[in-house]
Amino acid sequence: MAKLYFKFGAMGSSKTAQALMTKFNYEEKAHTVWLIKPATDTRDDRTDADGKVHTILRSRVGLFAEAEAVDASVNLYAEFLRRGGGGKYTDVVICDECQFLTGEQVEQLKDLTDKQDIPVLCFGLRADFQTRLFPGSKRLFEIADSITEIKSICRCGRKATVNARFDDNGRIVSEGQQIFLGGNDRYEGMCYNCYRTLIEEKRREDAETRF
Ligand SMILES: [Zn+2]
Repeated sequence: MAKLYFKFGAMGSSKTAQALMTKFNYEEKAHTVWLIKPATDTRDDRTDADGKVHTILRSRVGLFAEAEAVDASVNLYAEFLRRGGGGKYTDVVICDECQFLTGEQVEQLKDLTDKQDIPVLCFGLRADFQTRLFPGSKRLFEIADSITEIKSICRCGRKATVNARFDDNGRIVSEGQQIFLGGNDRYEGMCYNCYRTLIEEKRREDAETRF
């Protein structure tokens, strides 16, 4: 029986590189990969004549590949069948940025493993910049057959577990929407201790400027 895999890590833990290397491994053995990515960031997307949206997955180490962007309204099980199903069309599904899937889409991927015997590998973040689970990650923790952590380290050397968001001025961001695109904010994987220290410092500074 095929399995649903969830491979999670903090920002900068080479998740995209691992997703692309996994794709390469399958293709080297003549397996067909359906590479998908939730369509949250559309800046690099390109739309075909048939309305299909394509996006380039890029890893910081230089690997890249074209993926199909799927928005939240796409039923992934139905879309798999519409593309021709298993066999010569798809041997394996790989999803990057899987934290942005809806809970229902994660269930559809689980159905692919159980009813179509297609392995599905999901790569993504565990939690947002406020340490709350993303919807896709939450459902994956609940129903994935295999869960593994892709480890990376914090600036202090401990294991990074949370994703801190920093604004233009390099100050940590403690409030805002879960998904924020555009602007110059950047993210950094950190341990909870360093994250909390920065959040506490910021709150102290904010309180001082207020009075
Ligand atoms: Zn740390």
